[in-house]
Amino acid sequence: MFKKILGQKKVKRIISTQIKSGKIAQVYMFIGIDGIGKRLTAIEFAKVMNCSVNDFTKTDVGVCEKCISCEKITKNIHPDIHFIDFTKQAELEKSDLEKQKILKIETIRYMQKKILTRMYEGKWKFFIIEPAEKMNIAASNSLLKTLEEPPENTIIILIARHKETIPQTISSRSQIMFFQPLGVSEISNWLISNYSIHSTEVQRIVSLSDGSIGNAKKLADENKNKKDELSLWFRFKAQSFYISDILELSKNIVMKSTTLECVNAMICEAKKDFKVYPKTIAPAVELLIASKRLLLRNVNAQTVLDNLFFNLLDLVSYFKYKNT
Ligand SMILES: [Zn+2]
Repeated sequence: MFKKILGQKKVKRIISTQIKSGKIAQVYMFIGIDGIGKRLTAIEFAKVMNCSVNDFTKTDVGVCEKCISCEKITKNIHPDIHFIDFTKQAELEKSDLEKQKILKIETIRYMQKKILTRMYEGKWKFFIIEPAEKMNIAASNSLLKTLEEPPENTIIILIARHKETIPQTISSRSQIMFFQPLGVSEISNWLISNYSIHSTEVQRIVSLSDGSIGNAKKLADENKNKKDELSLWFRFKAQSFYISDILELSKNIVMKSTTLECVNAMICEAKKDFKVYPKTIAPAVELLIASKRLLLRNVNAQTVLDNLFFNLLDLVSYFKYKNT
């Protein structure tokens, strides 16, 4: 059970034992720093309780991941599993996600309405409230009534960073589970199996990640982007692109919003080559600098990058001709 969750042995052991013995608490509070598996554990918990293939009260096998229930929970479309969070609130308010700073009473009321509706497909309804510390007083007070007497076959999980930020009236009604930062080997192994990454870089990221997979992922992605940016000029020079790749490549860069960083990295590398082959490289450097100017003037990044890459492709075929 809970094979997807890294670390957190104690939490996994307690919840597994409760499931098998049928002594499940109805209100939990998952406490711990970001990026260590609190939300994922809540999702896996919901899967375990609703899987239509495996009976977890009798065996210790993992969730089947194949039944309709498991699939729907993975895709976040299960009608009985509810996330009460900023994404939901933004959807209810029809406003931007970035504007959501506190969880409001209206969102808790939405949850209370949902909690009373009949079960659609599952065996257990789940309500996952995150970040629970962002509920304002009105929302907390309103939630309190629900926590005092949750309906049958309903599990409420509050997710927060610190226990102290939650009103005592709420935490005293919850079974509190403390999630621990992950160990060096857990994070290193995760990095190695998810990224092609040098061992010195693994060490650097692990030391900066504070035991959080979320932080490690962010740092590893930044690292990968940087590597991709630096390799662009070399890939053009080696003519490792086909015309069909170019549009895909520029689309990806624009989507990651690293257009200017990429052009800067290419300028930097092209200038090094310019010192050795000034005549051959000069047109490419000029083209790159002109593109950078357009970006700084806020010309559409996609258009600038598409033009730059197509023109560069023409120029590099000329490099080959000159060099041979
Ligand atoms: Zn299943």
